[in-house]
Amino acid sequence: MLDIHWMREHQQDVQNAADQKGIEISIQEVLSAYDERKALRQDMDEKRALRNRLSQEIGRAKAVSKALSDTAGAHMEQVREVNKKLQEQEDALRMLDAKVNQLLLLVPNVVSPDSPIGKSDQDNVLLKQVGAPPTFSFQARDHVELGALHDMIDIPRGVKIAGTRHYVLKGVGVQLHRAVQQLAIDYLQEQGFTLLDVPLMVRGEAMTNTAFFPLGQDQTYQIGTEDKWLVGTSEVPLVSYYANEIVDVSTPIRLAAASSCFRSEVGSAGRDVYGLYRVHQFAKVEQVVLCEADPELSEAMLQQITRHAEHLLQLLELPYQQMAVCTGDMSQKTYKQYDLETWMPSRACYGETHSSSNLHDFQARRAEIRYRDQAGKLKYCHTLNNTAIATPRILIPLLENHQQEDGSIRIPSALQRYMNGMKELTPAK
Ligand code: AMP
Repeated sequence: MLDIHWMREHQQDVQNAADQKGIEISIQEVLSAYDERKALRQDMDEKRALRNRLSQEIGRAKAVSKALSDTAGAHMEQVREVNKKLQEQEDALRMLDAKVNQLLLLVPNVVSPDSPIGKSDQDNVLLKQVGAPPTFSFQARDHVELGALHDMIDIPRGVKIAGTRHYVLKGVGVQLHRAVQQLAIDYLQEQGFTLLDVPLMVRGEAMTNTAFFPLGQDQTYQIGTEDKWLVGTSEVPLVSYYANEIVDVSTPIRLAAASSCFRSEVGSAGRDVYGLYRVHQFAKVEQVVLCEADPELSEAMLQQITRHAEHLLQLLELPYQQMAVCTGDMSQKTYKQYDLETWMPSRACYGETHSSSNLHDFQARRAEIRYRDQAGKLKYCHTLNNTAIATPRILIPLLENHQQEDGSIRIPSALQRYMNGMKELTPAK
């Protein structure tokens, strides 16, 4: 959500952001609907004031004489007219309210001046590469083959149980899945993050407040016909934790959660159908930061949470690259975004494993999260989020980059303590 006055002053910037993000909306139409509602409200207020005046005059006339004067009679007729008009206007206002609120929820955040402008992830800009992809002197296996070899990934049975884009992890597969999450949790706690265990079935309001609804609603699973939705990321409950509150962000609030994530992946039909890359249910350790609405500070926080994700990739000894995400690949709420992509030998490319975003005050305005600045003035916070680890996607590079000729898989030293001290996984058969 943007401030309406700011939006009016920066109408062209907001329209550009909508066009660049591929959101079909006319900012002029939003402002006109807003003005129409304001004018209608004003007119209704004036009518109510007139009605009050007339009613008082009628009351006074009645006090003087029981027989109504011509003037009082005319006033009563006028009151009836005003009431009739007000009733019509109340219906119109209800419709206009719904229209304005719906339109306001579609308005995108503007984009930082240093974000690349582009249509899709093809236009994201490479910022740096860390580590080098391995060269194998043998026929390398992909993660599905390695998973079968180690009896740790069973996709056919996952599909049997739950349908396409489902999987079962087994034995050391589950251990690895949990190990990377625990590594991330421990690291974030060391960095001052508070760990929360949060509801994963949330009200629609929490989804709207965090800007996952209405755009993106088709990505979300609803529980029956209830107003309960399965989250696609714990960012939703983490940010909503402070909804409608005044918070103390004199030092930035740092929250983390490990959660299951559920995504319908509507619109991804036929994409990434092989293996563990794009699935309906996965686990993610997420970082969320709330800080003062100081662009320099939130930019520093963006760099910091991105470094956290990089550090974890370095602990996992994986080659990765950092991308500046372009406008067309950003979501409605994003002001600035980096993606980290990790080398995936079977795809012969880097695949997105982390997404780091600064939303400025866009989300906090929707969720009504405010703080008092030094002068005591209430302001909306800046909010940020980033993946710390998402699994099983990260198992793709982990298994594939660390595989050895005999099918065994080297476990990076930082992960060994979470794997009962195992230094490598040897094939089950
Ligand atoms: P996002 O919250 O969309 O920025 O995604 C964060 C990370 O979650 C991605 O970089 C992936 O590592 C992972 N992820 C997102 N969607 C999926 C999916 N459908 N299947 C597996 N992992 C996913």
